[in-house]
Amino acid sequence: KKITIAIDGFSSTGKSTLAKQLAKHLGYVYVDTGAMYRAVTVFAMKHNYISEDHLDKKKLVDSMPEVHLHFEFNPELGFAEMFLNGKNVETEIRTLEVSRLVSKIAEISEVRSRLVEQQQKMGKNKAVVMDGRDIGTVVFPHAELKIFMTASPHTRAQRRYDELLELGQQVTFQDVLQNVNERDYMDTHREDSPLVKASDAVELDNSGLTKKEQFQLVLSLVTE
Ligand code: C5P
Repeated sequence: KKITIAIDGFSSTGKSTLAKQLAKHLGYVYVDTGAMYRAVTVFAMKHNYISEDHLDKKKLVDSMPEVHLHFEFNPELGFAEMFLNGKNVETEIRTLEVSRLVSKIAEISEVRSRLVEQQQKMGKNKAVVMDGRDIGTVVFPHAELKIFMTASPHTRAQRRYDELLELGQQVTFQDVLQNVNERDYMDTHREDSPLVKASDAVELDNSGLTKKEQFQLVLSLVTE
């Protein structure tokens, strides 16, 4: 039986790494819902609806019907890349600038309900691994397997910092750590679908686990 696997947790806990490994191994579709919130943020930035000190919520909400998101599997990378209105934005959505603004976008109920609806369509009656913040609680409350990932802020910031350096971005560790802490705060304190562990999710603190150990552990929980 093909199942739905929901992976939630704080930012930079390695959700996408685990989700990609699982999807590849099981032959499932992987959906990175954070990429969708990031793509909406890129859209809002392009139209000047958002910056560090301003957010035109109404204009963004009104133009949501013009935001078309889709994923396209890239066989070379082994995962699907994010497209916004037909353009590949996979690199753009990963910048620290987008990371700084995305939680403000994710706070808007109208944005959430639209993306949740699309996510439900993408995963309906499919073998899917979906990662995000509200997958086990809101998007697929009946998912057969739910994982809630955590790790210390310092561990997560170090991972994110290494990734950004690899992408060639000029950032300091302090900036990345601050962003991790700010996003934790916003993700857990927003009114609509705050980040919480679903009561039936398995909590996985991977601070002391290698990627391989973590993968083996979760794989043993998959009962197709
Ligand atoms: O997972 P990632 O860090 O790429 O997600 C970016 C942001 O999008 C998160 O900080 C969170 O605010 C938001 N998000 C969300 N719900 C999801 C996925 C992401 O609110 N399901």
